[in-house]
Amino acid sequence: MDLFEYQGKQYFARFGIPVSPGGVADTVDEAVAEAERVGYPAVVKAQVQVGGRGKAGGIKLASNADEVRTHASNILGMDIKGHVVRRLWVERASDIAREYYASFTLDRGARKHLGMVSSRGGVDIEQVAAEDPDAIARIHIDPVDGLSESEALRLVDEAKLDPQARAGAVDILEKLYRCFVEGDADLVEINPLVLTPDGRVHALDAKVSLDNNAEFRHPEWGEYRATEELDERERLARSKGLQYIGLSGSVGIIANGAGLAMSTLDVVNQVGGSPANFLDIGGGADATVMANALEVINTDPNVRAIFINIFGGITRGDEVANGIVQALGRVHIDAPIVIRIDGTNAAQGREILKAHESDRLISKPTMLEAARTAVEIANRSTSTVRA
Ligand code: GDP
Ligand code: MN
Repeated sequence: MDLFEYQGKQYFARFGIPVSPGGVADTVDEAVAEAERVGYPAVVKAQVQVGGRGKAGGIKLASNADEVRTHASNILGMDIKGHVVRRLWVERASDIAREYYASFTLDRGARKHLGMVSSRGGVDIEQVAAEDPDAIARIHIDPVDGLSESEALRLVDEAKLDPQARAGAVDILEKLYRCFVEGDADLVEINPLVLTPDGRVHALDAKVSLDNNAEFRHPEWGEYRATEELDERERLARSKGLQYIGLSGSVGIIANGAGLAMSTLDVVNQVGGSPANFLDIGGGADATVMANALEVINTDPNVRAIFINIFGGITRGDEVANGIVQALGRVHIDAPIVIRIDGTNAAQGREILKAHESDRLISKPTMLEAARTAVEIANRSTSTVRA
């Protein structure tokens, strides 16, 4: 779950990471009130979960209430890369001497935490990585050992931060690492981490992505769930307890188990299709679950074919087939459905489907054949629509 900047900064503050004083505003008047409270110059910042807000005109400095009013009214409602700005963060503006970058994330390949620091902050870090990889100092941290002060210092020195920033940056790195580990984040990133002309170091931006698997021990994350940026499909799926991620393709996907769902996405890509979503229905595939899953996929107007990929284990193929047939009696589905059932009681499952097969309900014995058929249907109807 990704946090907005203002939530990320509140999260940082819990771990003692210095941030500028500020407040959220959903209206122009609230923005002015927050600016009056924190003092001028103030900075008015669009709250959307996408990078490059500065370049898009979503971050503006204001030296008085009139300027706050102008910027706030321009930024509220602004579309930044498809994200409409509904909320602002107004904070006391900082003087900037230098802009740095700092982050911690998980390096799955290395089975370690990865810390990165750069003296080239305030710009797109992917771009820095591409143009000048040596400008990013990296360290792998064994999660069992944690990050020591001397390692943090080495990271800062390797990144060639200015000497005045050294102590402040080390202190923030140690706190940021604690925020990453104890805060159960997948990613914590400060870009820019700034050095002010009077020698203070603090976080001017915050990107925090929380690890959903740790949600059970963070009741306080409920407030982040409430503001989460979900599209309509994701909201519906969440309300029905489904693991769903919306994508932009034309083949709707339903699979049981996250691993199988991922492989299904891969296979669809491999045979020249583009997945419309990731949807894992988990262990139970009864009629209700199946109807819910189909209903969620049906709300996506880009879907031209639906691929249901089930590998029966504890879930039995005949149960799944019955679930699909019953679900189709309950909800009207626009796109043709291709089903592959394998594993426990697969033969019985296919037998049940046989009686209902048509050009809108097709059963295929293998994942590859089913993927090819679904993609062919999707691509055919996509090109018809275009023509
Ligand atoms: P992003 O573009 O979405 O990453 O938004 P940031 O919060 O990182 O802000 C982008 C840029 O705006 C920063 O790199 C700074 O150069 C500038 N900026 C943000 N806050 C302040 C501030 O308080 N004072 C000044 N002078 N510039 C700021
Ligand atoms: Mn930034």
